[in-house]
Amino acid sequence: MTKIKSNYDVIIVGSGPAGLGAAFKLAQNSDCSVLLLEKKKISSGGLRNDCKQNYTYPVGFPYEHWTKEDADILLEEVKQHLNPKFEKRLNIEKYQKRAKKIGVEILSIDQAHVGTDKSSELIASLIEKLKALHVEVALHVEVKELVKNTKEIILEDGQIISFKNLVLAPGRADYDWLQEQMRILDIKYSDNIVDIGVRIETKEENYPIVRDYYDPKILFPNKVRTFCTNSGCAHIVREKYKGYYSVNGHSLSKENERNNLVNFAMLKTIRLTEPVVSGQQFGKILGEMVMQLTGGSVIMQRVGDFRLGSRSKKETFNSDLYDFEPTLKHAVAADLSLSMPAKILRDIWKSLKMLDTIIPGVLHPSTIIYYPEIKTYSNKPIFIDDNFMVKDGYYIIGDGAGTSRGITGAWASGIRAANGILKKKN
Ligand SMILES: Cc1cc2nc3c(=O)[nH]c(=O)nc-3n(C[C@H](O)[C@H](O)[C@H](O)COP(=O)(O)OP(=O)(O)OC[C@H]3O[C@@H](n4cnc5c(N)ncnc54)[C@H](O)[C@@H]3O)c2cc1C
Repeated sequence: MTKIKSNYDVIIVGSGPAGLGAAFKLAQNSDCSVLLLEKKKISSGGLRNDCKQNYTYPVGFPYEHWTKEDADILLEEVKQHLNPKFEKRLNIEKYQKRAKKIGVEILSIDQAHVGTDKSSELIASLIEKLKALHVEVALHVEVKELVKNTKEIILEDGQIISFKNLVLAPGRADYDWLQEQMRILDIKYSDNIVDIGVRIETKEENYPIVRDYYDPKILFPNKVRTFCTNSGCAHIVREKYKGYYSVNGHSLSKENERNNLVNFAMLKTIRLTEPVVSGQQFGKILGEMVMQLTGGSVIMQRVGDFRLGSRSKKETFNSDLYDFEPTLKHAVAADLSLSMPAKILRDIWKSLKMLDTIIPGVLHPSTIIYYPEIKTYSNKPIFIDDNFMVKDGYYIIGDGAGTSRGITGAWASGIRAANGILKKKN
């Protein structure tokens, strides 16, 4: 176990890709003493899941913080650390043509996929490299809170550590912890955006585009998009958040036997205005409603039932037409339209119909719709410079701060914050 000293030049909270990006940049370009703190036993946040890396702007890079030029420069640096092996991308022109006709855009993205079973090896090697670069990595150490008027943090066990620079990269699951710290520091923020949607699971033959394009990024009208497609050996999970579950998707690396299923999210971005301004709270309320309706789980409904306006039941799930088993066993067969706000359901269903026009078959009656998939990553602090500084010596980065929406963007945010610290030092 790392013996934590009482002061450091830089403390980084969170060992997800954002924290790692900052740590590598500082370690390789300065003699700063750096402490990387992670509350979990194993590093590294969302890098551990599936680990699809997108290397084409704007995927993962919110427009408000990134130009293509800025992102492209840092993506080159990200590549040097993650050594992506790019997936093939073939025959997408025919889909792009069909899409364009109905006002849909298919982005052409450079992607690499590690797989949930292999990502821990990648993470372990990154942590070893950091240690070799003299970064002190302390796992299973939680930061309780920041101290108001001094450059200090307090750990769960009461230890107080001081710093010259602090980089907060707690990810989106800990948005409320981050909000609390911003209140302590008197940093203004907003969190009025949230992505709400469903996850689709179907047989690969109903969504054959994935044979040519691993994670197709498709943009529909009304701010609906596909997100995080998994195939090969793919399955759906439910993740615990505070008070509700959100569904999500994984796939294992190519070495595993294929199960011939595909899953992907269809998300709608909601931008709230007064008087309801908290995207996280909105997401939580919707998630809690599903918990009530399912006795503490998430919903699933077959497209066949949904089209007929009838709820899915155990019996309908097992009929002969519905010829594959749901991979998320905990989901409860129910009625989507009873639990989803009309505007979100309408826009997502319309987008699914458009998708079925571009890739006929995806709305086969057996296709399963899981709900909810909620992405709450939109604490938006007011930054005072281009390096995500919120106050002299304090930086907030990654998905939790809305500076990224994915692994590569989060890593690039870390580099940008580190560049700010390096600039001040020189
Ligand atoms: C199931 C799943 C699958 C995903 N798949 C992909 C994918 O394939 N491709 C992709 O690009 N993106 C994917 N994402 C999103 C991706 O993981 C995030 O975009 C990315 O991890 C954000 O990086 P981050 O560093 O901002 O936060 P995170 O990766 O969430 O890391 C934050 C870290 O901070 C730690 N932390 C929080 N609070 C404290 C504290 N008080 N003290 C100490 N440590 C703390 C957390 O434990 C966590 O490890 C996926 C996410 C999930 C949940």
